[in-house]
Amino acid sequence: MKIKYKNKKNKENKNYRKNDFLYDEKANFSIIISGLLLISFLLLSIILLNTAIEEREENQEIISTSQYQYIMKDYIRNLPLIEREGLEELSEEVIKNKRACHDSKSDLKELIDEKLRLKNQEYYDNYNIRINSSLIAIENTSNPFSYKFNTYISSVKGDYSFDNVISSDVDCIGLKDPVPLLFCKGYHGLSHNDTSYSYGDSLSEFLKRQGVENYSCYINASSPFIVRKCLFDPYTHHGDDNGKIMKNCRDNGYYHESRDGACYLCRLEGKSGCEHYGFETFINPQRTNETGLVSACGSDHVIFSDDVYPGVEVIYNNESSNDVDGPYEILYLDPNGHKVKYGMSDF
Ligand SMILES: [Zn+2]
Ligand SMILES: [Zn+2]
Repeated sequence: MKIKYKNKKNKENKNYRKNDFLYDEKANFSIIISGLLLISFLLLSIILLNTAIEEREENQEIISTSQYQYIMKDYIRNLPLIEREGLEELSEEVIKNKRACHDSKSDLKELIDEKLRLKNQEYYDNYNIRINSSLIAIENTSNPFSYKFNTYISSVKGDYSFDNVISSDVDCIGLKDPVPLLFCKGYHGLSHNDTSYSYGDSLSEFLKRQGVENYSCYINASSPFIVRKCLFDPYTHHGDDNGKIMKNCRDNGYYHESRDGACYLCRLEGKSGCEHYGFETFINPQRTNETGLVSACGSDHVIFSDDVYPGVEVIYNNESSNDVDGPYEILYLDPNGHKVKYGMSDF
């Protein structure tokens, strides 16, 4: 029985070994298949990953082109703001120091080029884009309140580059008029608030020195401090409604286009007239009870010129009894020039 059992056991072992061999074969086969699958999977993953990386690089390229264009557009959009800021700074400097520029365009170039240099550094720090730029010219235009600032810009980023001259419109509206200050600074009594100059005795003393008849008409005169463009166009309407338009214009401190008046950049150089198409404003004398007086013509380019010519007394807005400022206004205007230009011939 014992032997039998043994034999049985051997038989079982034999069977077991046979099964074991089959099992090993199956396992090996599975390992090979799994390995192959794993390799295929790895290969596939590598291929997919490569494709993804390539696509991503391509996308990055596209993003950087559009980003570059966007950044350059943004830079160009900022130019007029930077340049207008430069113009304002120069005018503030002239007002603060009471000293005219020797050459406003070249002073402005220096100021703006420095601002551009700082802006370019900012773009390099933020976007890693190198930009070179400088103001190359300032042109007067047919609109005396606006200049054309031409700026050269060059920039390179990888395969992309930009090389161009950009023109920006820069206006002087809202800036301070330095002319009265520069002409009257040596005389006592000139002051200003946020909107207008009050001359005290300064202008009459200045006109006295110029040999102007009835210079005392300009004691306590006033004129605008801030450049604002007159809205009443055509100008011949100033006399309408018994001179109410002129009163409104004067109260708002408006400036008018004029071939004889200085443009803004020349005003910064202390000129009241220049070869460019410029503008003028009124110097408002004090009221007087005397009539028919002749004094200096009240346009600023006449008052502050070397050749002051006379103006006759023009009384306007003289029937408005409800006017809290009083029943009438006065200007001195030359009969054939400014009186006609502003439609005041009937006064
Ligand atoms: Zn006006
Ligand atoms: Zn000028």
